[in-house]
Amino acid sequence: MRERILIHCDLDAFFAAVETLHHNLDPDVPLIIGSDPKNGQGRGIVSTCNYAAREFGIRSAMPISEAWRRCPGQPLGPALYHRGTHRLYRHASNRVMAILSQHAGKFEQASIDEAYLDVTEQCGGDWNRAEGLCRQLQQLIMADISLSASFGIGPTRVAAKMASEARKPGGIFLVHPGGLQEFFSSHPCRAVPGIGPKAAQMLGELGIMMLSDAYREGPDLITDAVGSRRAKMLWRILEGDSSNEVSALRSRKSIGKERTFSHDVKETEVVFDMLENLITQVTRKLRNLEITARNVEVKLRYRGFETVSHARSLAVSMDDEETFKRIASRLLANVYDTTRSVRLVGFRVGDLEAPPNRQATLDTFSEEE
Ligand SMILES: [Mg+2]
Repeated sequence: MRERILIHCDLDAFFAAVETLHHNLDPDVPLIIGSDPKNGQGRGIVSTCNYAAREFGIRSAMPISEAWRRCPGQPLGPALYHRGTHRLYRHASNRVMAILSQHAGKFEQASIDEAYLDVTEQCGGDWNRAEGLCRQLQQLIMADISLSASFGIGPTRVAAKMASEARKPGGIFLVHPGGLQEFFSSHPCRAVPGIGPKAAQMLGELGIMMLSDAYREGPDLITDAVGSRRAKMLWRILEGDSSNEVSALRSRKSIGKERTFSHDVKETEVVFDMLENLITQVTRKLRNLEITARNVEVKLRYRGFETVSHARSLAVSMDDEETFKRIASRLLANVYDTTRSVRLVGFRVGDLEAPPNRQATLDTFSEEE
C-alpha cells in the first residue's frame, strides 16, 4: 500500500480576517469578535480574534470582560470590538472550499475554515508536487478572496493538521513519512489533537513533556499516565498508524443529545454548563458501545426558534470527553449570540467508527436523540 499524501488547509484567523477585509481594518490593531464588551462590564464571550489580539492572550470562548481587561477598546485602549457576521463567513468559506475541492482528488471540509485533501494520485506520489500544489492553492485563495491560508502536508491526518500549524500564518510545511518521528518529537504532548491540558499534565508528572520523551519512554509508561484508551490513540499517532482517510462520503449515523430549557436562558454559563453535561452523557454512551467519533457538532436554538449549529471533523477518531468539551465550547463560542435568550442546546458526534464485532450495534444508532 502506497503512503497517502494528505494536505490540511487552515485559513488564518478566519473570522477576524473576513471582518478585516469587509470593514477595511488595520490588521495590526487587535480585533476581538464577540459580545458587546460594555466597557468591561459585558457578560458575553469572545467568539474569536485576530493575531494582534492573541498577543494579549485573548482566546476564543474567554469572557469578553477578561478580553477587555487584557486589551481594552477605545478610548482606554487600542482594541476594536465587533459583533460577528456569520453570513459573510459562510460566503467566504464557500468560495475557498470551491477552490480546494476543484484541485483535489479527494476533499473533505472539516469545518468552516478547514479542509483535508488527499492528493496522492494527482501528484503521482510526489511530495514536492504536493508542496507546489499548496503554493498554487495559497495564491488562488489570495487572488480570489484575499484570505491567507496555511497548509500542512503529511502521511496522516494528524501529521498534516499539526504541519499546517507549524508555519502559521501563511505558511506551508511538509512532513515526509520518514520525517514523522523527528517532526512529532519537536512538539509538546499538548500539540496532539486529543491530548488536552489535563492529559498533558498527567504525562508531565511522569516526565513526559515532549513527544520525544514519549518515544523514549514507550507505550507502557504512557498507559500508566493517561490510561490505555488514550495511550493507544497517542501511540498509533506517533507510529504514523492513525487515520489517513479523506472522505466526503460521511456516515450519517450519529449519537446526540439535546435539552430544552424549562424557561429561556439568558446566562451564558448556564448554556455552557448544559453543553458540558450533554457531552458527558454522550461520551459515556460512546464508551459503553466501544465506538469512537470523528465529527462533533453543537446546536443552539434561540427564543423564537431560530437554530444555529456548528460542526467540525477531528484529525483522529476518538471518545475523549476532555477534547470534546474543549472543541465543543469553541464551536459554541463561534456561533453563540450571547445577547439572545437560549431555548435549547444540543451536542452530537458523528462519523462513528466501531471495531468489526461492534458494527451491528453501530447500525442501530442512526440519528438517535
Ligand atoms: Mg483557522
